[in-house]
Formats: sequence, structure tokens, C-alpha cells
Amino acid sequence: MADLNQKFDVLVIGGGNAALCAAISARRAGASVLVLEGAPKFYRGGNTRHTRNMRCAHDAATDILTGPYTEEEFWDDLLRLTGGQTDEELAKFMIAESKDILNWIVEQGVRWQPSLGGTLSLGRTNSFFLGGGRAMLNALYLTAERLGVEIVYDAEVIDLEIEQGMFLSAKLKQPIDGVSDIRASALVAAAGGFEANIEWLKQYWGEAADNFLIRGTPYNRGSILKMLLDKGVQDIGDPTQCHAVAIDARAPKFDGGIITRHDSVVFGIVVNKHAQRFYDEGEDIWPKRYAIWGRLVAAQPDQIAYIIFDSTVVTSFMPTLFSPIAGATIGELAGKLELDPAALEKTITDFNAAVRPGTFDHTILDDCRTEGITPPKTHWARRIETPPYLAYPVRPGITFTYLGIRVNRQARMVMKDGKPSANMFAAGEIMAGNVLGKGYAAGIGMTIGSVFGRVAGREAAKNARNW
Ligand SMILES: Cc1cc2nc3c(=O)[nH]c(=O)nc-3n(C[C@H](O)[C@H](O)[C@H](O)COP(=O)(O)OP(=O)(O)OC[C@H]3O[C@@H](n4cnc5c(N)ncnc54)[C@H](O)[C@@H]3O)c2cc1C
Repeated sequence: MADLNQKFDVLVIGGGNAALCAAISARRAGASVLVLEGAPKFYRGGNTRHTRNMRCAHDAATDILTGPYTEEEFWDDLLRLTGGQTDEELAKFMIAESKDILNWIVEQGVRWQPSLGGTLSLGRTNSFFLGGGRAMLNALYLTAERLGVEIVYDAEVIDLEIEQGMFLSAKLKQPIDGVSDIRASALVAAAGGFEANIEWLKQYWGEAADNFLIRGTPYNRGSILKMLLDKGVQDIGDPTQCHAVAIDARAPKFDGGIITRHDSVVFGIVVNKHAQRFYDEGEDIWPKRYAIWGRLVAAQPDQIAYIIFDSTVVTSFMPTLFSPIAGATIGELAGKLELDPAALEKTITDFNAAVRPGTFDHTILDDCRTEGITPPKTHWARRIETPPYLAYPVRPGITFTYLGIRVNRQARMVMKDGKPSANMFAAGEIMAGNVLGKGYAAGIGMTIGSVFGRVAGREAAKNARNW
């Protein structure tokens, strides 16, 4: 049982990957460390519970990665996917550090497994956690506990005392013990984004945010982010930018996780509630493009869309929790989806007529494309003509937000006047906007958390112990 009256060297707020990497790293650097996780123990670990893999640079194939993924290639990918909206110095620093994370995280008890195959195309770039994010977290918690990190669950931080860029104390609220003040020499904020705060999302998205589903934890309400921004820390990132994918419209409001995500877009077409296509479904290979579909659906009327395909492709992608809705004819399918049958029939007829012959290969940008329709489908276009016809209804599934707090290479917060904070550090989603101005490539969320978590913990420990 932690003595919360003592002054800790390092206080870590949050209980996911970034927080645990920071806590372990600070403890290994000799600091006394307290972790305050807002969620109850069963739900510990925020969005990290739902993850499967991490993207790290490496110069050669490993036991589980099929080939090299150099720093240069990682940087090229990041540059393209963010459209240049990334802090080059921090991003390149993160990429360079990621090489070592592949081994460091194993030293903390995490185990890798061979990549999942199929349509994911991640075998060369992304390392998968044996047992998924929950097993990864369990390993990190065990290591942290063994090292002597103090961890309190159901421990929501409701206020921060900060004076001129210096953290003094945090106000902790617990269900039984009530409110108490926690003192520490340094702070690591690793409390996620504000994706679970619908009211905050509404400030930028309007009423549409009511139709968003939140893929992860309901505990990431952005309260720590807001406190820090209100108390002089510099913000970074566009508040409307986030990682958002198309998930099944039948998914729960929160915590639906990975099994509600649909990876089938490239195998069919996507229409809105007027049965109209609205974007090139074959723009780029899936790991580099899947994260745009949440935003695309969010821009459609009533924030709903339908992935339509036929029976020939039904085993080509990973199955999801929800079965597709089926119809023996396009008209029957339209009826079940409450779409105008004539409009859907016309959309599919026009699409089929525009498909040009080619050799289908979902692993490359193949030559199966349409001609003469807008929007085009530039790859993997095949006719939708073999019943039963199938559909998934999809809504925007918000994974995490990018508005965050600015940090430097030490993961140290930067104040509004441009000066580094005396003793405050940040890692993970709460500072993801430094690297991700927009866009996403699978596995970078965990890279950001692990790299900056490890740095933040080490630097916070140094800071606290005046090295
Ligand atoms: C379904 C899904 C699948 C994903 N898959 C992947 C993947 O395979 N690879 C990848 O790289 N990324 C993936 N991501 C993104 C990834 O989850 C995040 O980028 C990463 O987990 C962020 O880690 P974090 O430690 O910053 O935040 P989190 O793991 O979300 O942790 C934040 C923590 O802060 C706590 N907290 C919040 N407010 C307070 C407060 N006031 N007081 C105390 N504690 C508080 C929360 O309870 C939580 O424990 C996925 C996300 C989702 C939702």
C-alpha cells in the first residue's frame, strides 16, 4: 500500500503504455515513482489494452519481422502520411530511438509474436505483441511492480498545482479515500487524449460528434491535457485531427476495440445514405490508408456509410464481430440498409461498367481500376456481381485525438512563452500531435508512447534527483 503522504521523485499520471514505460524507466534510473491510473484495475491501461502492434525501425529482418525497415523509409512514410505536418526533429529522434525499443521493451517483459497475415501487410514493419495489448500491459505492470513502482487504481487526478511552469502537486480523487494532495519533484503526464469527451469533440465537430463511436477507453476525457493547457503549457496540433477509422455502426459507444473495425473497404465500394460513392476506395494500401475512413464517414450525412461487396470476397479480409447484412439482390440489400434501391442499383451498375480488366493483387497497388467515374477506384476495382450482396454499416470510430502539449527531445513540456518547463514531462497520446499533425500509419501510437515514455521517465528521474 503506497504511502501517499510522502513526496515522490516522479509522479506518473495515466496507466497505459506511455505511463508504464515512463514509470519503469524512471524507476530504473533510481527514482521513487508513483503511478496514478484513473481507471479501476480491471480497466487499467487505457487504449493500450486494445493494441496489437508497434512500428519500429530496424536494419535487418528479425525473428518476427520479414525484412528491414530503415529509418529513412520510416521517415518517408511519416512525411507522406502526415503531409509534412510533423516536427521533423522530434519525429526523426523518435524513429532513431524506436530501433532500440524493439529490444528494450522485451527487456521489460513484453514478448513478440509473428505478424498477422492476410490483408494487413504489416509483416515487415510492425512487431506484434504476443497475446495483444492486454498481455503487453500485464508484463509492463508486473515489471513495474517488481521494481518497486507504486501504483494506485481508481485514482483520478482532478487538479494540478503548477507555478510558472513548475509542477508542485496533484489533487487525487479516490472513491473511498476522497480527495488528497500528492507531491512529487517531477511530473510525467501520460493521460491520453480527449477522444472520450464527446462535449469537447463537439466544439470542433458540432452535433455530428454525437454519432461518433469511441473505440477505446471511456477514461481518456482529456482532463489532464486541459489542465496543462490552461496552466501555461503550449499546445500543438489541430484539434479536429484525430485517428478515426470506419467501425461497425452496431458497435458499443465505448471500448468496442479492434473487433469492430472493418478492413474490407478495398474489396468493395463505400456509399453514403443516399447510396452515392464519395471517395476512392483503392487509393493506397490498407495500413497507410485505413485511418482516413473515419473522417470521410464523419463528413457524410448523418455520419453513416455502407461498405458494399459481393460473396466472392467475403473470405479475403479478417472477419469482424458483426456479420455482414446480406441480400439476394441489390434491391433486397438496399431495403435492409434502408437505402433507395434504385439509387444503389445505379451506383453499382455504373461502378461495374467502369471497371477495367486487370490482375488483382491486394498486396500491391495493382492495375485493377475504374475509368470514367467520379470518384475513381484506382486499385483493386472488381465488379460487384455475385450474390448474395453484402454490406457493413459503418460510423466514425475515434481512436485518439492529436491536439496535445508541445514537448522537446527530452519529452519536457514547453510552456507558452517557449521556455521548457522546470519539471514536467509528457508521453503518449497527450503529446502525439508533435509527431502526428494529421494522418497515421499503423503502429505509430505505441511507438510514440514507448519512445517518449522511456525518455520522459529517464529525464524526470534525472530532474528529480538533480543529476
Ligand atoms: C481499438 C484500438 C486499437 C489500437 N491499436 C493500436 C495498435 O495496434 N498499435 C498502435 O500503435 N496503436 C494502436 N492504438 C492506439 C494506441 O492505443 C494509443 O496510441 C496508445 O495506447 C496510447 O498510449 P497512452 O499510454 O498514451 O494512452 P492510454 O493507453 O490510453 O492511457 C491513458 C491512461 O490515462 C488514464 N487517465 C486519463 N485521465 C486520467 C486522469 N485524470 N487521472 C488519472 N489517469 C487518467 C487512463 O485511464 C489511461 O489509463 C489503438 C487504439 C485503439 C482504441
